Amino acid sequence: MTSRTPSLNPCTRPLAGQTAIVTGASRGIGAAVAVGLARAGADVVVNYRRNAEMAESVAAICRQHDVRALAVQADVSQAADAEALVQTASVNFGTPSILVNNAGIAHTGLLLDMTEEEWDAVMTSNLKAPFLCTKAVLPHMIRAQYGRIINLSSMWGLAGGSCEAAYSASKGGVIALTKALAKEMGPSGITVNAVAPGAIQTDMLENLSDEDLALLADETPVGRLGTAEDVAHAVTFLALPASSFVTGQVLSPNGGYIT
Ligand code: NAP
Repeated sequence: MTSRTPSLNPCTRPLAGQTAIVTGASRGIGAAVAVGLARAGADVVVNYRRNAEMAESVAAICRQHDVRALAVQADVSQAADAEALVQTASVNFGTPSILVNNAGIAHTGLLLDMTEEEWDAVMTSNLKAPFLCTKAVLPHMIRAQYGRIINLSSMWGLAGGSCEAAYSASKGGVIALTKALAKEMGPSGITVNAVAPGAIQTDMLENLSDEDLALLADETPVGRLGTAEDVAHAVTFLALPASSFVTGQVLSPNGGYIT
């Protein structure tokens, strides 16, 4: 951990002095989100499940932006882990004001081939984990009468993806959770929004062939797949103090794939 440095220009560091928790931040979109929030001035808790080394290197990149950053192990689909994660953030950096529920898993295949265990695993990681982390962080945010909760959905949560029924259902659930909670938390100064990315080049797409990826890029109006940084940009916008009138919304960085 580095010591806290004085805030630089508030225009370029609008999140200075804030504490952010990013789940599943050892790689992919979560890693880019953690770095994006650090660049904007937030102290960041970089949550990981398995890969401590990767999470430590993300935290080190965050610290290059003159913020404090800590890699913290937690399986956020477990209530005790989710609570411990929030507690660690609070003890080390102060009241968490930004929670990014990013951790998630994919599942591709015909519904008829899907087992009950596979269905439960997708729902637990993608829908129950945001519930658990949100439940753990809300008392802190309500006390502060301020918070930004940003949930990672997917464009398939809006449109439904073929051979991704459970994944689409879980991500649609994330959108409904977001919209409902936004109404519940509006009076407490807490905004709740979802980011629903299109096809983003991360490990999550590793089961797709090069031809499938090229086809996806071709079908995307802007002519390319998205990057983790494209998503981080959307998340950072929603995390800003100035975004206080944006709540219950779904921002979909998808290159125009669905409109
Ligand atoms: P990724 O590269 O597969 O990374 C997923 C991350 O989540 C990993 O760091 C993983 O850690 C972590 N994770 C999974 N379950 C966890 C748990 N129970 N507790 C803690 N960490 C956990 O995925 P990504 O592409 O960056 O996706 C991030 C989010 O964006 C997901 O919610 C995904 O559904 C959503 N999204 C992705 C795309 C895309 O095209 N890539 C599109 C739309 C939405 P471990 O490695 O330790 O398991």
